[in-house]
Amino acid sequence: MSTLRKLIIASNNPGKLREIRAILTPLAIDAAPQSDFSITEADEPHPTFIENALAKARHASRYSGLPALADDSGICVQALNGAPGVNSARYAGEPKSDERNNQKLIEALQHHTDRRAYYYCVIVLVRHADDPQPIIVDGSWHGEIIDRPQGAGGFGYDPYFYLPEFDKTAAELTAEQKNRISHRGQGLAQLVAILRDGKC
Ligand code: IMP
Repeated sequence: MSTLRKLIIASNNPGKLREIRAILTPLAIDAAPQSDFSITEADEPHPTFIENALAKARHASRYSGLPALADDSGICVQALNGAPGVNSARYAGEPKSDERNNQKLIEALQHHTDRRAYYYCVIVLVRHADDPQPIIVDGSWHGEIIDRPQGAGGFGYDPYFYLPEFDKTAAELTAEQKNRISHRGQGLAQLVAILRDGKC
């Protein structure tokens, strides 16, 4: 079992925080959001998820003095050559808005019949700000983008992310169902296995 007892989550996104804490709490790890330490969001200037996740984790660890976990994630749409990708949170510009992001996505896909998309997530855990061997896990979750929202759960693009095998959108799944199969859930399951093995 891991000796890690407290870490900071380098995110202010309530949807992500909920999902991450639900999975770490059974391990008796106290996972505090960075807002508890008045840490502001790190810049995410990089073109890859992994670089942004590392930047966020190092930033939170540097300012809290604690191990830090960061998730960088987004939705990649086949017909849009992978967009919104790393820009998912700010696809429709500042200030961040799920509603405007979804509207822009539906407009961009108006004349496309190929609706394939996947969520991708990379999770990084640094033991300290300059950790030379961060723990890195990831996950992808495939579905299709639909034109009308369905469901009230989840966050972000979930009401438009349709899963043919369930005949439901991600927003129609229960929190437990989503955590079991989502991109973030897959990454966190790998992280939990690493922590349980005491490799951290
Ligand atoms: P980040 O905070 O820079 O990693 O941006 C992540 C963005 O990707 C979120 O703000 C959402 O727009 C989108 N996203 C990532 N994971 C999910 C999810 O599980 N459901 C819905 N949207 C997600």
